[in-house]
Amino acid sequence: MNVFDTVIVGGGPAGYTAALYCARAGLSAAVLETLYAGGQMAATNRIENYPGFDEVDGFSLAQRMKEGAERAGAVSYNTEVLELHLTETPKRIVTSSGEFSAHTVILATGAQPRRLGDAREAEFTGRGLGYCATCDGMFYRGKTVVVAGGGNSAVEEALFLSRICQTVYVVHRRDALRADRAGIRALEQAENVHILYERRVAELLGEETLSGVTLENTRTGERETLACDGLFVAIGREPNTALFAGQVALDKAGYVDADETTRTNLPGVFAAGDVRKKPLRQIVTAAADGAVAAKFAEEFLNSET
Ligand code: NAP
Repeated sequence: MNVFDTVIVGGGPAGYTAALYCARAGLSAAVLETLYAGGQMAATNRIENYPGFDEVDGFSLAQRMKEGAERAGAVSYNTEVLELHLTETPKRIVTSSGEFSAHTVILATGAQPRRLGDAREAEFTGRGLGYCATCDGMFYRGKTVVVAGGGNSAVEEALFLSRICQTVYVVHRRDALRADRAGIRALEQAENVHILYERRVAELLGEETLSGVTLENTRTGERETLACDGLFVAIGREPNTALFAGQVALDKAGYVDADETTRTNLPGVFAAGDVRKKPLRQIVTAAADGAVAAKFAEEFLNSET
């Protein structure tokens, strides 16, 4: 079986940047990605903070990253990774379309939206409940929506929706938002946005589609019903580590415990992008991680020969 110098698990900005840098360094590199390039980025309509672009949609940027890596010589496969054997030599990756072997592995599996934890959450997903306003917001033109959360994501989702919807309620469990000042100011100035502090979504209401939520006051426990056409959940993200959680050391929050070198506790295993512990999770920091991971993978391979 062909042993790759590096197999990169995950085809978001971290994964494809790692592939680009590995390929340009002369390493054989394969990216394993389930469905399409881009990860979370692919679901973002408008990216305004990626340097060098006035504005770009995530799907196109992802395609360009993938094509760039492939032009440099990396290969990519649409396949689901089922098992990772990271302590074997060479490392073994079991996928839905066969096994891969590699001298090094770069984990770039990203993160996914944190769920509310409501028993009916899965039932309503796509039927009034969503995790990405830029993806699904247009379905709620002129309607009333609720955004759950109080961080930068919630503020951005609410601002986006305020330009489409008639009324936007932001439901936040504390008495202050955890977002940048500029965003909070813009939100407070939007006339159709109402911020409901010290509330949490306690229950999802509706028959086949969501028709409202029960809110609980986090101080008094008092409950009230709020009718709405849509609910966007923006309460943070959780890293995708299930595939390797028993092998690779994680920090308390569940992110891969790797420093700026992207090295994990396992020799020849690196973590790049949102799955790694870091203070800022952005496309640009994920891409930067990918480049760094490639450099240290190359260094590891050189030290082994
Ligand atoms: P975040 O900053 O972790 O905020 C999550 C929010 O959801 C917090 O307000 C938190 O409440 C609330 N929350 C968490 N679990 C909850 C639960 N079970 N029920 C109700 N509320 C819950 O997450 P984020 O907004 O997704 O942002 C993630 C990272 O990306 C952050 O570093 C953020 O700054 C960055 N980001 C940056 C930009 C930008 O620069 N343009 C845009 C989006 C995101 P508490 O406040 O009470 O903890």
